[in-house]
Amino acid sequence: MKKVVIIGGGIAGLAAAVHLKSAAKVHGKEVDVLILEKNQRVGGKILTERIGDYLLEGGPDSFLPEKVWTVHLAKHVGLEGEMLPSNDEFKGTFIFSDKRLHPLPEGVMLMVPTMIRPLITSSLLSWSGKLRMGMEPFVRRRKAEGDESLASFVKRRLGKECLDKIAEPLVAGIHTSNPDNMSVLSTFPRFVDMEKKSGSLIRGMLAALKHRPQPTLSGPASKPGSQNMTYFMSFKNGMQALSQACAAYVGDGAIRLGAAVEAIEPGEKAYTVHVEGGEKIEADAVMLGTAAYDAAEMVREFDETLAGQMRRIEWSSSATVSLAFRREDMKAPLRGFGFIVPRVEGRRVNAATYSSIKWSYRAPDETVLIRVFVGGGHHEELVHDLDDAGMVRMALEELDTIVGLKADARFSRIYRWFKGMPKYTVGHLDRMAVLDRSLSFHPGLQVIGCSYRGIGIGDCVHQAQIAAEKILQA
Ligand SMILES: Cc1cc2nc3c(=O)[nH]c(=O)nc-3n(C[C@H](O)[C@H](O)[C@H](O)COP(=O)(O)OP(=O)(O)OC[C@H]3O[C@@H](n4cnc5c(N)ncnc54)[C@H](O)[C@@H]3O)c2cc1C
Repeated sequence: MKKVVIIGGGIAGLAAAVHLKSAAKVHGKEVDVLILEKNQRVGGKILTERIGDYLLEGGPDSFLPEKVWTVHLAKHVGLEGEMLPSNDEFKGTFIFSDKRLHPLPEGVMLMVPTMIRPLITSSLLSWSGKLRMGMEPFVRRRKAEGDESLASFVKRRLGKECLDKIAEPLVAGIHTSNPDNMSVLSTFPRFVDMEKKSGSLIRGMLAALKHRPQPTLSGPASKPGSQNMTYFMSFKNGMQALSQACAAYVGDGAIRLGAAVEAIEPGEKAYTVHVEGGEKIEADAVMLGTAAYDAAEMVREFDETLAGQMRRIEWSSSATVSLAFRREDMKAPLRGFGFIVPRVEGRRVNAATYSSIKWSYRAPDETVLIRVFVGGGHHEELVHDLDDAGMVRMALEELDTIVGLKADARFSRIYRWFKGMPKYTVGHLDRMAVLDRSLSFHPGLQVIGCSYRGIGIGDCVHQAQIAAEKILQA
């Protein structure tokens, strides 16, 4: 029987284990799977906490159903009835600019406008900014091949105002990164493709909307033909339901908690996995599901090139601050799911999500739960420098300035993610090609997780499944 050791019990490691267990049956093979996780819990950055009647997310609060692999995984591990669409009747994104909140013009998809009227009437952009965005179909295709920074791509196609007021805050929110050195090829390959094929993002996006596959989720927001398919999904009991259901599916016997791996050592036919405390485990195949900088420490003794590529991936640190308020204390109306803040505004927070408006089952009716984002693309030093009291004070001051919310929080909870998000900087895909070449010298060794080919949960799940399939096919 083939033995596969997976190092790291984040969503990538768990999805790989689920795939190995279920696909092995289809292939008529027997596979012995073991996850080694250094912490006392699985899930990694997926971290849901209950405090009284509140449900808090420390890390991800959602997954994108458009990336179908998470939906399929959730159904496979028995969570179909637990899936929770966002409360789209309240949806809307607001952008803080020139001292007030403006709605993101309807029809703007990530940064590409697909409707003329809302763009024309938007209070967010100047006339020259609107005109520049509207001229996008007439901008010539880029001749040069190869990677480009997201900032350069957006400025070239849609103009600087679109970059500063829309693309940067939206993207910084998702990637907690800086568009000046973010690789457009690794973060938005779809846009590069649209420019190549349609000569325009607006034309490409309109064509994609027309031919969009029909959603498979049930519910009013996802009726066939609807332009308003639910964009965000979670679970009634929070995102941790997914990691826990995956863990239950693979079984307790296949998971070792508190097992920190120090190194792996290739042998003639198999790998030896060295666990802290001196234990050695033999495995036919090993999947590295930790952050790349941790994986680098495990492989450096036998492949310094591979370790070097892993170390070259840069990381950003961020924090989420969850604050609960009494509804009657709130002086300001909360519109949409929250707001984002462009870097050019110089504020100390990036964004806030009104968690109990975006999702059901998150807070008692008479209260409001808000989650504020700090660090990442801007003012990363605050994640290190502010103590908990200072961080809460700062978040409250910013909420007051941005939304006019003058209220004390009933309670607060801070989650800090040091080196929590990889930055896919320009040239990332080339570095991944070198990494793949190094890996090809080590049959049975796979790398999975957010460090490499997609930071979202959907991408982590998909890449883990591909890697697990390679191990089964070998
Ligand atoms: C604040 C925040 C908000 C986010 N929001 C979203 C969102 O809304 N939607 C979305 O799709 N994505 C979101 N993401 C991104 C997403 O959560 C992550 O990219 C994804 O969860 C990473 O999964 P992973 O398995 O690659 O890594 P991780 O979750 O980091 O798992 C790696 C595991 O490896 C373990 N490990 C490390 N070293 C060792 C060792 N030596 N031995 C054994 N085990 C080890 C760690 O303890 C950890 O459990 C967010 C991320 C953050 C930080």
